[in-house]
Amino acid sequence: MSAVLWLRRDLRRGDLPALGAAAAAGDGSVAPLFVLDPRLLDSAGRVRRAWLGRSLTALVESYDGALHVRIGDPAVEVPAFAQEVGATSVHVTRETTPFGVARDRRVGAALTAAGVELVATGTPYAVGPGLVTKPDGDPYRVFTPFMRAWRDHGWPLPAQEPEGVEFVRVAAAQARSRDSALSDLDTVGADADLPEAGEDAALRRWREWRADGGLTAYATDRNRPDRDGTSRMSPHLKIGSVHPRTLLADVTQEEGKGAWIFVNELAWREFYADVLWHHPRSAWRDLRPALEGLAYDEPGEQVAAWREGRTGYPIVDAGMRQLLATGWMHNRVRMIVASFLTKDLHVWWPVGARHFMDHLVDGDLASNSHGWQWVSGTGTDAAPYFRVFNPVLQGVKFDPRGDYVRRWVPELAHLAGKAAHEPWTVLDGYAQGYVERIVDHAEERKEALRRLGELRPR
Ligand code: FAD
Repeated sequence: MSAVLWLRRDLRRGDLPALGAAAAAGDGSVAPLFVLDPRLLDSAGRVRRAWLGRSLTALVESYDGALHVRIGDPAVEVPAFAQEVGATSVHVTRETTPFGVARDRRVGAALTAAGVELVATGTPYAVGPGLVTKPDGDPYRVFTPFMRAWRDHGWPLPAQEPEGVEFVRVAAAQARSRDSALSDLDTVGADADLPEAGEDAALRRWREWRADGGLTAYATDRNRPDRDGTSRMSPHLKIGSVHPRTLLADVTQEEGKGAWIFVNELAWREFYADVLWHHPRSAWRDLRPALEGLAYDEPGEQVAAWREGRTGYPIVDAGMRQLLATGWMHNRVRMIVASFLTKDLHVWWPVGARHFMDHLVDGDLASNSHGWQWVSGTGTDAAPYFRVFNPVLQGVKFDPRGDYVRRWVPELAHLAGKAAHEPWTVLDGYAQGYVERIVDHAEERKEALRRLGELRPR
């Protein structure tokens, strides 16, 4: 009797507890399944669909061709597939997002009706959302105490791959239609400059980045968009081609402060997943109700300029263009462009969060919505709303030679050094057709604070 391994945000073979559970449940034969759910595909941008297609193609190889793919509603497809292969259990990694939880409830009910058990083992996190709480059982709402408790809680070592598993083969005709469905997903985003997909590629990037001293230099370089200073693991973590446990097991004390900070960054991902687990409404609404009455502007022409990287603020435009070209943006620049939209253009954060979800290859509901809320002041941090990023000072500080800006904004390529961040200070600043600033940052900062002041009890 085989067992089904239904893969979702865990597109890998190594360090996968659900695979171990599936192998132990039946006679050792496992049928790996992925369901292309049109509801999820419709909500993913073309870059994420392409990334999914490429990651699944790599997964076919990881499973020696034995990945079964079905298209449709999982509540129909999963029970039908379980019956087709004669399985009495379906094994998954526990899903913790609002959509995933609701879907798994429906699929679980359909499986029970068909006499098949749905078994969840592990989560996409080192510590499952909901497991780290204050001593009184309440969830944390502030990062630092969460991170300390999360470190104290600890996590298991990577799961060993079970031995002697036999994967249920895919019939030739089905393999052909699977491969063409996957390459259809890929062609929609074929022009995006994506990283190499799959488990092997993820681990290779991780090892090479560390071998090049990435972790050791991380404490300083992680804020530099002009350097290859971060791991670029986010697209892989998003889709599960690597598990954070695998990364955490590699990080050692010898790598010093950088290693400590890197673990903290992974803790942010875990924190935001925990917040979403406890407050599913915060996916698209303010987490802190205190700012709910703030006056916002409707998105118009200026937001279109922001989306296309035509604001006249070089670091903002570089980031927005990097996003459109590659599906990725450096974390420091994500903060700068998010602050610009919410504080300089006075637009409510979900407008920007939606744009990010449409274009980010690592688009992740928990990290994205709460990253946006952190910047806009409506989120977890006691982070004051009045912290407004100055896009020029940020640019000069974190891209001091202007290399990042020149790379993504060719109209500034003729400007040397930090002049690329302030084209208005040099005579030929606009000689190559760069746009004028659409707003005056100093004025808009005052306006943002004025709107905040209106909210305060007098
Ligand atoms: P590294 O610096 O190498 O960090 C390692 C890992 O730690 C990352 O892959 C990521 O999983 C996690 N991490 C690092 N910083 C953060 C953070 N601030 N919040 C949560 N996790 C973090 N990250 C996403 O994965 N998906 C998103 O949709 C997303 N949207 C964001 C939106 C905004 C407005 C902001 C400010 C941040 C957002 N982030 C998001 C967090 C962060 O920008 C990315 O995780 C990071 O840039 C990914 O690059 P990296 O893998 O090289 O990061």
